[in-house]
Amino acid sequence: MDKLLEETKYLMKKYKIKANKSLGQNFLIDEKVIEDIVDGANIDNEDLVIEIGPGLGSMTKLLLEKAKKVICIELDKKMIKILNDRFIAYHNLEIINDDVLKLDLNKIISKEKDNIKNVKIVANLPYYITTPIIMKLLEEKLDIESITVMIQKEVADRLIEVPGGKNTGAITYTVYYYCESCKIREVENTSFVPMPEVTSEVIRLNLRSKPAVDVKMPEVMFRMIKAAFMQRRKTLVNALTNCGAFVDKQEGIEILKTLGLKENVRAENLSIEDFGKLADIIIK
Ligand code: SAM
Repeated sequence: MDKLLEETKYLMKKYKIKANKSLGQNFLIDEKVIEDIVDGANIDNEDLVIEIGPGLGSMTKLLLEKAKKVICIELDKKMIKILNDRFIAYHNLEIINDDVLKLDLNKIISKEKDNIKNVKIVANLPYYITTPIIMKLLEEKLDIESITVMIQKEVADRLIEVPGGKNTGAITYTVYYYCESCKIREVENTSFVPMPEVTSEVIRLNLRSKPAVDVKMPEVMFRMIKAAFMQRRKTLVNALTNCGAFVDKQEGIEILKTLGLKENVRAENLSIEDFGKLADIIIK
């Protein structure tokens, strides 16, 4: 850890950098963690890697050595100068100074597609926008193979939970619909400068070749899942009647019965197949 800590301190001093909390800047200072993230991403020399939030570039160096090309997307202009200076000798790096949430990632990927085999997203994500970034990467149906990210442990566990399990949220269903996921490792807060207050976790989401369930209108299913989890303390019948998915409570109870579900079930008791069938019935 010490070598990377020294390097981080040196760069921060040289470029007069103070970690910007509002941009979620917690820089990695643990080489073993960086190796585990990059190994976990299974990168080969025909891959395009998109790194979101490279910061000072602690992970970028190893990515540049493994991948055919690395595209870094970083919002903080101060980091761009550092990255350009540090990696001047690498010809396989492109840096985009922009907000990842505003970028047309499909356009960026399609420009590279003919020259590479697979696209892999790798990041130590800024924690304040973890969910919007993951949702964007999934909902924009990007032509990518996997997403390997370090995020807050509590959020990671919810993302990789199987729907119907204890620790689920609406995002659990979205991730499961699009991906097969696995945990790579936990990371203590001592592996960062400055130290975040929480424990982190590295996970990999492998995009499925086709979604986990066959649903006529997935957008209806996801709207229903979101509405159900917004009122997760209520029974599903009440939550979905309140949001207008069922005409009234009685209709809801009847529909649940046809699916073999009890009238007092709650959102987290349903599998994604249950929500899929429910959506198919509702749009009839
Ligand atoms: N990858 C570096 C590391 O591991 O040491 C830095 C990771 S730090 C947790 C998150 C990085 O994301 C910061 O460099 C921050 O400036 C950048 N960032 C924050 N919001 C962003 C956004 N909307 N788009 C792109 N980058 C962003």
